[in-house]
Amino acid sequence: MTFSVFYRQEMLAKLKAQQYDLLIIGGGITGAGIALDAASRGLKTALIEKNDFAFGTSSRSTKLIHGGLRYLKQLEFALVKEVGSERAIVHQLAPHLVVPEKMLLPLYEKRGLGYWLTSIGLKIYDWLAGVKAEDQRRMLTKPQTLQYEPLLKTDDVKGGAIYAEYRTDDARLTIEIAKMAFAKGADLINYVSVVDFIYTDEQVTGVKVTDETTGDEFNINATTVVNAAGPWVDELRLINKSKTTKHLHLTKGVHIVIPYHRLPVRQAIYFDVPDGRMIFAIPRGRITYVGTTDTDYSGDRNVVFATNEDARYLIEGINGTFPSVHLTLADIESSWAGLRPLIHEEGKSASELSRKDEIFESPTGLISIAGGKLTGYRKMAERVVDLVIRKKFEDRDLPPCTTHLLALTPNRLNDVAAVAEYKKQVVARIATLGLKGEDAASLIHLYGRQTDQIIDRMMANRTADPDLDLLLAELWYLLHHEMIVKANDFFVRRTGLLYFDLPRLVKLLDPALQSMAHYLNWDIDRLREERSAMEEIIQQTLLFKN
Ligand code: FAD
Repeated sequence: MTFSVFYRQEMLAKLKAQQYDLLIIGGGITGAGIALDAASRGLKTALIEKNDFAFGTSSRSTKLIHGGLRYLKQLEFALVKEVGSERAIVHQLAPHLVVPEKMLLPLYEKRGLGYWLTSIGLKIYDWLAGVKAEDQRRMLTKPQTLQYEPLLKTDDVKGGAIYAEYRTDDARLTIEIAKMAFAKGADLINYVSVVDFIYTDEQVTGVKVTDETTGDEFNINATTVVNAAGPWVDELRLINKSKTTKHLHLTKGVHIVIPYHRLPVRQAIYFDVPDGRMIFAIPRGRITYVGTTDTDYSGDRNVVFATNEDARYLIEGINGTFPSVHLTLADIESSWAGLRPLIHEEGKSASELSRKDEIFESPTGLISIAGGKLTGYRKMAERVVDLVIRKKFEDRDLPPCTTHLLALTPNRLNDVAAVAEYKKQVVARIATLGLKGEDAASLIHLYGRQTDQIIDRMMANRTADPDLDLLLAELWYLLHHEMIVKANDFFVRRTGLLYFDLPRLVKLLDPALQSMAHYLNWDIDRLREERSAMEEIIQQTLLFKN
């Protein structure tokens, strides 16, 4: 069996037949991380996702593996230490996907922490995270800061700082972890939702599920069930009658996407906006994305989008910091919005809430985990699996967590130098195919060495349109290896085209849909359905224009 929709029936049959040690609800980074940790320690593990893997918050973050500088301001030293140290580990596990990124922090006369406090703060940040000497923060004079970023407003910049973070693609990180969990023996499936729990002697011993592709209902049996449903955690706690006064507080965060030539920042930058918050501008290939907002949310969790007010807030923040760009809403090419599943604290506003994770155990044995960050997924998983083993499997001689040593892709590129060397090879290979150097960079960032198989496929199936050939080769690879079920799985989460190259998506949508219809035996009605679902998703990224 491979991790593919072509084996969906076999996977469903396994899920119905097996008695699992651990069943995880939710295929975001938290659930995928737990599945990898549990399977690699020898637990018989299953993971159920009601939509696509990374459909929830795990495809809508700022896409940074970062220590969370602002948590230092909130004196959350333990959180900064844990996620700060995790950055280097996650980078080691997938150097093509978790890429070092220097962050520029401009400092102003009358705003922010000021030069000396920032200098000390960043020193503590580096120290807590164990950052190597050559990567530690560097304070900059005003001329140096303006040399790093000539677009900055010159009059009130006082100086700046450069410090180390990492950039990633959250949905790809999630899918690679899910694939590795599968390789270690876990059974995972998307488009199956948990609708209720099964109880034996008032203890949870499995779940009732619905296959969202057919409407079929069935049961899955498991000794332990973990609820890692992100913003939906409380929905499941409610079904389990275990939602207590400790509950989730959802806050919405929006990012907008601007063509790079309209916001040509030289590197990632983290800057103050007038209300005292800070936002990121991060260049990525042909675009720069900017975010995020942080506002309380109580709407539909399944459809979250940027409003006109969200987009205007970010545009004003950009124009106030980079006065020569004069952006308007018309410059926004795409957007995304996600929900932070934070733990409610009485009297605290959205941005004051802690980003710490927390585990809740219900009297019926359901374990729920919420809060946390993309960056801390591995440690969150370790804590959950340690707890599961302590509660139910202490009699087995199971090893401790080893995920800090488990590369996230087979045949990993070992470090930044190996990524650069591999890029040279890919550039040489694709030059004869009519593709450019940028294509090599983005393919390697998405797929690492899996790029070879995509290029092999492309070489064997060439037409007069190299751009289309490449997209169809990616589609072929991802259909066979990444459990794509619907068109938006491909366009939104596996390739990120919806956010990072919407014009290319629009151009190649129809031939890609035709190709999917061919592989997946879609009839004309299904093809129409998939097309209109894609049109609706594209519309959602532009709803702020209304
Ligand atoms: P999710 O990714 O939401 O996964 C939960 C999954 O459960 C969903 O896919 C959902 O479909 C599924 N599910 C729900 N109900 C059911 C059911 N009944 N049956 C089956 N499946 C179900 N962190 C960082 O480290 N770096 C950042 O740069 C960063 N930026 C952020 C920016 C924003 C705007 C936001 C909102 C968050 C950001 N975070 C960041 C935090 C990080 O993204 C989240 O902590 C993380 O993605 C949460 O993952 P999760 O798996 O817990 O939840």
